[in-house]
Formats: sequence, C-alpha cells, structure tokens
Amino acid sequence: MTEQETAPLRIFIVGAGLGGLAAAVALRKQGHRVEIFESSLMNKEIGAAITVQANAMRVLEYLGYEKENLKGVDFFGTVRYSSLGGEGSTNLMQFPKNTMGRAGWLCLRTDLHDELKRLAIGKEGVGPQTQLHLGKEVASCDPGEGTLRLKTGEVHRADLIIGADGIHSVIRAHVLGYEQRALPSGISTFRCLFDASKLDGLSDTEWFREGISGARVVLSPEERFRMLYLFPCHGGKVINVVAHHVDDREQDKHDWSAMASIEEVLDEFKSFHSRYLNFLKLGEQPILRWQLRALPTLPTWINGRTCLLGDAAHATLPTLGQGAGMALEDAATIGCLIPLGIERGDIPARLEAYQELRKSRGEFVNRESLEQATEPSKRGLYARSKDMQAFLVGYDAVETTQKYLRDH
Ligand code: FAD
Repeated sequence: MTEQETAPLRIFIVGAGLGGLAAAVALRKQGHRVEIFESSLMNKEIGAAITVQANAMRVLEYLGYEKENLKGVDFFGTVRYSSLGGEGSTNLMQFPKNTMGRAGWLCLRTDLHDELKRLAIGKEGVGPQTQLHLGKEVASCDPGEGTLRLKTGEVHRADLIIGADGIHSVIRAHVLGYEQRALPSGISTFRCLFDASKLDGLSDTEWFREGISGARVVLSPEERFRMLYLFPCHGGKVINVVAHHVDDREQDKHDWSAMASIEEVLDEFKSFHSRYLNFLKLGEQPILRWQLRALPTLPTWINGRTCLLGDAAHATLPTLGQGAGMALEDAATIGCLIPLGIERGDIPARLEAYQELRKSRGEFVNRESLEQATEPSKRGLYARSKDMQAFLVGYDAVETTQKYLRDH
C-alpha cells in the first residue's frame, strides 16, 4: 500500500455521549484522526444506572476497558420478581452469560462515560488521541460534502461524519431531509440513587438483600403499567431505583432532568407494599422524572458520507436495558468497517454496509422495548423466551462485522 492509501481519515463525531465516545475509541484503534464536537461542557454529567449486558460487554472488551474503572456490579443474570404482597419471589429472567461467566454489569452511566472518555482521549490508548471540542454545538451539516456548521458559524470539513447527538439529534434532519422527532410513549420513569449503606437503617429489606448482585423488580398486577426496579451499581455503594409508570401528561424536551417530588412517586405507586416504597424515601439525590420517547422507524440512517449512531438513529425505551448496548454495538460496527486504508471515495459504500448490519437490529430492539411497556400481551415476553434473550445478548458486533467483511 502507498502512503496515500494508508493515510488516516479525518472523522467528525457529533456528541460525546456513550455512543459517540465509543465510536471514537473504535476508530482511534484503526488509526484515524477523530474529532468530537460536544455541545455541553461535560462538567456535570448525569444519569442513573445502566445495564451493560453481555453484547455490550463484548464491545467494551474490544475497546480495551479496565474493569476496575467501570465499578460495575456483577449481574449474574437473574432478575428476581417479587409479587406486590412480598410473597413468592421467583426468577423472572435468566440472561445468557459470556465466557467470563457474567451476564453483564450494572453501572452508573457516569462511570461508563468516564471510562469511554479516558479510552478516547487518553494518551495511553492505541492510535491518535481523539480531539474533544467541548461547548461546540453543531447547528447543521451537509451530509454529502461532509461539512459541519457550528452554532458560532464556523464550518469544518471531514471525510466522515457520525451523528451521535442523541434522542434530539440535529444531524438526523440533515440525513433524512426532514425533521423526525422521537415520539412520546406515554410512559415515564422516576429515577433516584441512594447510598447503599443507608439500607442498614431500614427494616424489611431481605427481599432485596438476598441477591444484591442481581436486579430486583416489582411488577404491578394491574393493567396500568407500573414496574419498580432496584439494583446496585458503583461498586455496590449506590442503589439505583427506577419506577416505570403510565404518564399521559404533555412531555417537555428536557426529559433527562425534570424534577419530581417524593409525594408524586408515593401517590403513583400507592398500591405497592410500603416495604418497596421505603427505599424511595432514602433518595439523597433528587428524584427525576424521565419522560420516555421512542423514535419511529427511519427510512435511512445514512446519507452521503454521514451516518446516525445510537439514540440519534434508534432512541429506545429502557425496558430491555439495551439503549447503551445498541449504541456500543453501532460503534464497534462502524469502527470495524472503516479500517486504515479506506479512501474518502469508499465511505458511502462502507456506510451502506453499516446500515445493512445495524438498522434492522436496532429497530427490532426499539420496537420490542416499546411494546414491553405499552402492549400488555407482550409484557414478560423476555421472561419466557430464551431464544429472544440469546438473540439480544448473544450478539457479537465485532465478530459479525468481521464475518460480513470476509463474505463481501
Ligand atoms: P447520548 O448519551 O444521549 O449522547 C448524546 C450527546 O450528544 C450528549 O452528550 C449531548 O450533549 C450531545 N449533543 C446533542 N446535540 C448536540 C449538538 N447539536 N451538537 C453537539 N453535541 C450535541 N440511559 C439509561 O439507561 N439510564 C440513565 O440513567 C440514562 N441517563 C442519561 C442521562 C443523560 C444526561 C443522557 C444524555 C442520556 C442518558 N441515558 C440514560 C441514555 C443513554 O445514555 C443512551 O440511551 C445511550 O447511551 C445512547 O447514547 P448516545 O451516545 O446515542 O446518546
């Protein structure tokens, strides 16, 4: 190969969330020059816990993560169900385990975000360090030309643009040629975190403690969807509470950080036994209401030399715990498809391959996650279907992409 053929590409990523950072690491590994434009200053990252299931763990292993940095709590794969009365807890789901004998991790979003940032911009990583431009909001892009226009008016040109700018993506409208918003699902989630040591001050916690390394879920028997999860993260020091429920109010755009009061939560979950609600009163951080939206199926994720990745392409409900997993899979796939030596002119064809590998899977997970919450007949499907679980978490994005490249 000539020097020209092995020259690194200039790649722009819009958004330094989990998907954008993971894509930067995957492309850095290939030797490309990656720049991320992030609108926030990333000085107050938020987010509660995230499940990193076996499919996402495989990607993190490929990206070279350090286990201790993630502070993940082993998720041995059993989600236990407790009835409302507290009687008869049973195994609800058994997730397949990976070769390390784990089904995954329960992590704080901020711990995972910090680790991906370290891998993307740290000196010690493989390939050129990613340049992270903070406080740089992207206003628009020209997908065919590969140019980004910032809100300040600056214009920059790259060989490839990846729109990883989340659920309210700006890049999406330019890829599609029209605006497509994520639609309200009618489901909201209360979220709060509390210090695990506070459990000592509570009575009647055996139902939770007996398997603290697994998740705990309490389901409402009523038709109206209510589900309460508790699980540990951050090395077991923090407990994450997630309470899904029907919410017909109009949604606002700033849905990650809307505040809720303890009274609202207790009122919504008043049919639950008090032993489950006592946990909510321990929340030290504010209780947030996260109004859940999902993106309808898009006609395309690619246009010219631009593609969508993560929530920008397939924003999904968290009911299957696969939002971050799908973004990580997208990232590993794009990284494998763009090795050093690819020329600028080859990029549109490589993006076709990306779409072929990722679109139907991302949309399937999106649809199933929505139906878990909104279709009573679908609830508990994953509890019963081992095949479905294997399809979801048995996937290896790197191996699948490498096989695709060998076969085409
Ligand atoms: P995101 O993680 O949403 O990242 C998108 C990034 O793009 C953000 O950093 C944003 O600031 C940036 N951005 C947006 N528009 C522009 C623009 N015009 N120009 C430049 N940058 C832009 N999932 C859970 O399961 N549990 C949680 O507790 C949870 N909390 C979250 C908290 C926050 C603040 C966010 C942003 C997401 C949260 N998620 C949570 C969602 C989860 O992180 C995503 O579903 C998943 O990781 C996919 O990530 P993504 O990279 O596609 O998008």
